[in-house]
Amino acid sequence: MDRFSDKTALVTGAGSGIGRATAQRLADEGADVVVSDVDEERGEAVVASIEDDGGSATFVSANVANPEEVQQLVEITVDTYGGLDIAVNNAGILTGFEDITDISEDDWERLIDVNLKGVWAGMKAELPVMEEQGGGVIVNTASEAGLVGMGGLGNYVASKHGVVGLTKTAALEYADRSVRVNAIAPGPTETNIQETMAGGSDPRELPFDTSTMSDVPMGRQADPKEMAGVVAFLCSEDASFVTGVTIPVDGGQAAD
Ligand code: NAD
Repeated sequence: MDRFSDKTALVTGAGSGIGRATAQRLADEGADVVVSDVDEERGEAVVASIEDDGGSATFVSANVANPEEVQQLVEITVDTYGGLDIAVNNAGILTGFEDITDISEDDWERLIDVNLKGVWAGMKAELPVMEEQGGGVIVNTASEAGLVGMGGLGNYVASKHGVVGLTKTAALEYADRSVRVNAIAPGPTETNIQETMAGGSDPRELPFDTSTMSDVPMGRQADPKEMAGVVAFLCSEDASFVTGVTIPVDGGQAAD
C-alpha cells in the first residue's frame, strides 16, 4: 500500500517503541517522515533504518515538554518538506508506580509536562499549519489509562485522560476546517517505556505480570507494529469520517 505518497508526517517519541514503529509504517507507505525524539542516537538509528528500506526521513531533536522547541520542530518540518499532513503526538513517559499520596510534586509535573502539555504544545503548533494548507490529520497516543483508572498510576492516568479530552476538543474545534484529530489507547505493548521510569535510573516493577498478561483477554502484550497499523488507518482516507475518537488497541482489555 502507498496511502501516504506525497504526504509529510511528523512523529514525536519516534526513537523507540510505538513511535518508531509508526514512523517506519508511515514511511513504508510513502510518507516523508520527520522522526523526532529527545534521544538523538535512537532517532538517527530510526532514520537510517527507514532509509535502508528505501524510505525518506529526517531526524529533528525536540523535547515535547518545551512548547518553543515543538514550534521550531513544526517549522523545520514545513521548511524541510513543504508542509505537514500527518502529526502523531506520541512521546510519553512513566515516572513509576505509586499511590496518589506518594507521588512527588516533581514526578507529577515532569510527567504532566511531557504526556499532556506535550500533546497540547504539539497540536498548538500543528493545527494552524494544517488549517492554512487546507487540511491534515492528527493522532495522539493516549492509553488504556486514559479510559479507566489504574491504581499506582495517578499522574499517568490523569495525563492520559487529559489527552483523550484534548483530542475530542481539538476534533470539535477543527471539524469544519478539514483537520481530523483522533487518538489510540494502547494496552500493554512491548517497548522501552519502563526505562523512562525515574529517568531510567530506578526501574521499578510493572504492576502486572508480563509473562501471563492475565489482565488482557488476548493474553499477551502488543507488538508496537499493531499500534502503528491502527495509527496508519486513522491517518488514511479510509478514516475520512472519523474524528474525535480514541480507539482502544488493547487485546480486549477495554471490553472487560
Ligand atoms: P518508549 O519509551 O519505547 O518510547 C518513548 C519515546 O519517547 C522514547 O524514544 C523517548 O526518548 C521519547 N521521549 C521521552 N520523553 C520525551 C520528550 N520529553 N520529548 C520527546 N521525546 C521524548 O515508550 P512507548 O511505549 O513506545 O511509548 C509511546 C507512547 O505510548 C507514550 O505516550 C506512552 O504513554 C504510550 N503507551 C505505551 C504503552 C505501553 O505499554 N508501551 C501503553 C499505553 C500507552
